[in-house]
Parts: sequence; structure tokens; C-alpha cells
Amino acid sequence: MQEQLPTLEQLWLDTLNWTPSGEVLCQFQKLYELILEKNQQLNLTKITQPLEFWEKHLWDSLAAVVGVFEQQKLKAIDIGTGAGFPGLPISFAYPTWQLTLVDSTKKKVNFLAELKEKMLLKNIEPLAARIEELGQDPLYREQYDLVLIRAVAQESACAEYALPLLKIGGSAILYRGQWSEDQTQNLCQVSAKLGGEINSLKSLSTPVSGSTRNCVYLKKTKSTSLEYPRAIGVPTHSPLLS
Ligand code: SAM
Repeated sequence: MQEQLPTLEQLWLDTLNWTPSGEVLCQFQKLYELILEKNQQLNLTKITQPLEFWEKHLWDSLAAVVGVFEQQKLKAIDIGTGAGFPGLPISFAYPTWQLTLVDSTKKKVNFLAELKEKMLLKNIEPLAARIEELGQDPLYREQYDLVLIRAVAQESACAEYALPLLKIGGSAILYRGQWSEDQTQNLCQVSAKLGGEINSLKSLSTPVSGSTRNCVYLKKTKSTSLEYPRAIGVPTHSPLLS
């Protein structure tokens, strides 16, 4: 028998002033089942218990977006999406958005392509690529309203990956755990080199385990120099410094 995810509608409402529709609840459950099944062959996630999955994958993905971005049409890209987080829960909650889900690990992207077919998802596009290459490709560079990035690299590299992909006026969300004033200072200066700035910072305590979540919102204010992103591996090995 498949494990059942909790629905926790009241907790969604209390924490995000939002509740998933019946259809979205079914999509959450199906996603959970497909990930558990695939996890037997491929290491997609260590978070497999129903309540933990609800908090760390579903709630966490949506908490940074709900009530902040409510446009009807929006072109987003989730970079280093892994098993589809935070992009997939967002694609369920915002069916009119278009989301590109990128990862360099082909097996994970193949899983996302299977899932797209099995769940009849029209608004996601799984893509196997390195972010450093996409950022220099005119088909992707400066094409997005929103960039999502969770658990991929330290903050300077995240900014170097995210800002070249954004249109001027677009936003990036860096999903971070602990966050310090020094990191804010560093990110502020690094973002300026890349044509962006820190727009805001939202600190949250997650509703089940009380973990710390910081959402850092960047805004693109001018075009990014063609120097960035640098070649594959350089943003993480030689991070831009303030
Ligand atoms: N974002 C997902 C999450 O929070 O569950 C997955 C996080 S996982 C720790 C990091 C993912 O980023 C891996 O799947 C890895 O393949 C991908 N990744 C890291 N660097 C990348 C790069 N330069 N280009 C594309 N994908 C990258």
C-alpha cells in the first residue's frame, strides 16, 4: 500500500494563507508516490517520511512564493532542481506559469520527463544542462521573470547562476537555511557586479520541525556583463568576492 501524505489544509492556511485545491492535493500525492518508487533505483531524495516530505519539499517550496508572486503569467526556471524542488510544487499551484526545470544530472531529468508524461503536466519543461552554459545561451539568457535556486551552491555562485538568466525587472529566490549579516553584505556586492540587488529577505520557521528558512529575493536592475556566468565550475571554485 502506498503511504499517504497528510493534507494539513489548516496548516497551509495558517502559515501561508493559502490552501491547495483537491487537484493540487492529488498531484502532491502522485508526486510523492512516483518519487518513492524511483528512489528505489535512483537517489532522488533522503526525505521520504510523509510529514517530512510535506514540510521540506512541499511547504518549503511554496512558502517563498505564495503571496509574493501572484502574476497570472510568469516564466520561471528552477536551476539545480534535482527531483523537482522547488519547481514542481510551484508548477502545481500555479498552472498558468511556465517552468523550466534544469539539472546537470541526466538521470534526474529523465525522471522529471517521465513524471511530466505520467502526470500530464503541460507547464514544465525538464532540461539536462549546466547552468553556466545556459546563462551564456541566448535562448535562455535574460529570458526569465523568476529564477528559483535551492541547495545548489553558496550564495555568490547562486547569484552568478541566477542573475544572467533574468530579464531586467525579474526576481530570483535563493532558498537558504541559516543566513548571516556577512552573507547579506557579500551577496549585496556580488549582485551589484552581476546587474542585481537584494530586494528583500524573509526569515521563516518551518511549521513542523521549526527549522530556519531564509528566502533571499534578488532583483535584476540592469543587464549582466557577458563575462558572467563564467566557465563550468568557475563560479563554485572561484566564487565572486565582495
Ligand atoms: N534543488 C533540489 C532540492 O532542493 O531538493 C536539489 C538540490 S541538490 C542538493 C543540487 C542539484 O543541483 C543536484 O541535482 C545537481 O546535479 C544540481 N547542480 C549543481 N550544480 C549544477 C550546475 N552547475 N548546473 C546544473 N545543475 C547543477
